[in-house]
This record gives sequence, C-alpha cells and structure tokens, in this order.
Amino acid sequence: MLPLSALPRLADRLVSTDGQVQVTAQFDRDESGRYRLQGQLVAALPVRCERCLGAMQRTIDQPFCLVAVWSEEEAKQLPDDYEPWVTGEEPVSLAEMVEEELLLSLPLVNYHDTDCTDGVVKPATDERSAPPRQNPFQVLESLRKK
Ligand SMILES: [Zn+2]
Repeated sequence: MLPLSALPRLADRLVSTDGQVQVTAQFDRDESGRYRLQGQLVAALPVRCERCLGAMQRTIDQPFCLVAVWSEEEAKQLPDDYEPWVTGEEPVSLAEMVEEELLLSLPLVNYHDTDCTDGVVKPATDERSAPPRQNPFQVLESLRKK
C-alpha cells in the first residue's frame, strides 16, 4: 500500500490525498532473461468533477507489465507489447513507477457518471483552489452566442 500523499506529482491532480494505492507486483524474468515487473494497481483517486466541480472518486484498476532496461537505446529494442522501465544507474523507486502509471491512467478530465448538475453549473466551493477552472461547456456556450 502506498499513501497518495507519497505521490506529489499525482497529488497535484487530486482534490485530496486521502487514500492509498494498492500495489501487487511480482518480479520475474522472461524467456530472453529480461527482468520483468508485472502487477496490478488499484486505487480510488479523489478528483474533481469538471461538470459540477464536486469531488468524486475515479477508480483505477490497472494491470502493468514493465521491463527493466538500462537505457532509452535498449528500450527501443523491446517487443511492442513491453513497456520499458528505464532504470539507468539510479536506484529504482517503486513509488515513482506507480505514480507514472497512475498519471497515465487517470483521465485528464473527470465527470460523475450521473447527471450531477441538474442543469445548473455550481460555482467552485473550494476556496483554496486557484482561479476556478473554466467549464468546457461554458466555452462552447460562448462560442455559440457569437
Ligand atoms: Zn459532477
């Protein structure tokens, strides 16, 4: 288990860091002797719904299969279904890998599955947040009026 607070780059895109990522992973070696890390990430990420600006949970349930390589050059030689994990000379950080995977699987914008606004767009209530993000639908509205 990794607390979300340990993943600062991911936390930038969340409304809170209450929560954890469940990581199951197993190292093995494939037929060619490459080190392979296979596993599954499961997390409920607190994100903002861009329609009603309320908090919601985005469930991530993401399998991964990474192959450790030493360099970008080596990464290019991997079969297509392998995802390279360039470790280089640096110590490998599982947290960074998990963060990278979650950033890739988290959609850029999130919406509640149900119609959460009753047709009304509520103002942002979270005063800590920077200027309220523009609702993409408002942009469309203003274009239509021109
Ligand atoms: Zn919503």
